[in-house]
This record gives sequence, structure tokens and C-alpha cells, in this order.
Amino acid sequence: MRKRIVAGNWKMNMNNSDAQALFESLNTTKTVSSTEIIIAPPSLYLSEFASKKCKQIYLAAQNCSDNENGAYTGEISASMLYSIGVKYCLVGHSERRQYQKESDLLLKQKVNALLKNKVIPIFCCGENLDKRKSGDFYQVIQGQIENSLFHLTDSQIKEVVIAYEPIWAIGTGVTASSGQAQEIHAFIRSLLVEKYSLQTADEISILYGGSCKASNAKELFMNRDVDGGLIGGAALDADSFSAIIESF
Ligand code: PEP
Repeated sequence: MRKRIVAGNWKMNMNNSDAQALFESLNTTKTVSSTEIIIAPPSLYLSEFASKKCKQIYLAAQNCSDNENGAYTGEISASMLYSIGVKYCLVGHSERRQYQKESDLLLKQKVNALLKNKVIPIFCCGENLDKRKSGDFYQVIQGQIENSLFHLTDSQIKEVVIAYEPIWAIGTGVTASSGQAQEIHAFIRSLLVEKYSLQTADEISILYGGSCKASNAKELFMNRDVDGGLIGGAALDADSFSAIIESF
């Protein structure tokens, strides 16, 4: 059975005291869910959070270098993440694709660096509003997945989590409808079936991201191919994040 996951992407939010308070609040909230809970705070806080006793929270980085180590000022390597106990790392968030001009090829190299260092990539894909309107979104998503993931072997792809995040829904308050989310998740799974096998595709968690909140999480998570969520804004408040976790 594939993992159900709720991951919170804090992005570049939270000064130290707020970050500590949110972490403590999440770490002491008792959830009854069997869902894997992940937070992706700014990298500055990862080491400290990792050194605390995390009851049920796993850590993700928001980014890492595609290089192993060396003269890459400002970068953090996958092996450094692993060495402090970080289990996951976001790859290809649309904000990094847009602002840092991250290409499919670079993301492929980041996926490789992470898998080599036993950190699980949470690979983000999704179309912008123009592509949604023109109907070309299937090709966009297929291209992103094929170019950055389909070089992986069967056992490697099973280590990857995929997050479908339509750009037009990120931080906009506009959520993909439950039907739209299921349609794309089923499409992504069908690509995995075609390239690998039904059994492999069945083991890969596919998360939805884009204005997911407590009020719509249940409806989204009810879909058979939606295995959880990657949450932005609603992950910055302990109560709303916990309510999303409890939405399964
Ligand atoms: C995100 O940035 O990954 C995200 C899903 O943001 P939001 O929930 O705020 O739309």
C-alpha cells in the first residue's frame, strides 16, 4: 500500500521564534492519523529541528544542489541533508522553476543526487494557467515527468514522491476541483504504468498541491489517486495544518 502524506512547504516564511513555535506546536499535537507528516522549513532550521526528538514529523529540504560537494557557494548538498537526518527534499517546485530558471535537466540531476544520498525527492510538476486554458497541460506534465524522472530504474522510481501542483492554484486561493485533481493524478499514474508497471505505479504516492486547506482537503484526498497534499499557506498555522492531516 502506498504512503499517504501531508507535507507542509513553509517557503521563505517564519523568523526563528515563529519557526520554533510552529515546530513545537506541530510536534506536540497528537494526531491519530497514519499519514506521514512532513515539514519543509527554510534550510536554516533543518539542523536544529533534526536534533530535536521528532515524534511524528519528518523533515524535508526545499532545495538541494545537483552537485556532490565542492566550490558551489551558497549551496547545500544531498549528502549534507542526509547526514543531519533529513528524509525528503522538494525538487522542481514551480517557484524555483520560474525564479531560478530550473530546467528539467537540472532537476533530473538533483533527483539523481538525492537518490544517491538516500534522500527521497518530492518531485513537483504542473502547468501554468495558459497551458490549462489552451488544453496543452497533459503534454506539459508528461514532459516534466519524462525529462526528469523516466531515466530512473524501477526500484529508483519507487523511491520518488510526485506532487502535482497546478501553478494557477498555488497561493491563489483557486483550488483544482476534486475531479480535475483526480484526472491529472490518474494521468500521471497511467504514465508510470506505461513506463514501468502497474505494480510499480501503484506504489508511488502522488500528492496534490495548490490552495489545499482544511475546507477542501477531504474532498481532494477522497480520490483514489490522490495520496495526500503538498501544502503552502495553510501549513503555516498549526491548527489548519493539523486539520488537513486529519482530513483523510
Ligand atoms: C505550494 O507552494 O507548494 C503550495 C501548494 O502553496 P499553497 O498551498 O499556498 O497554494
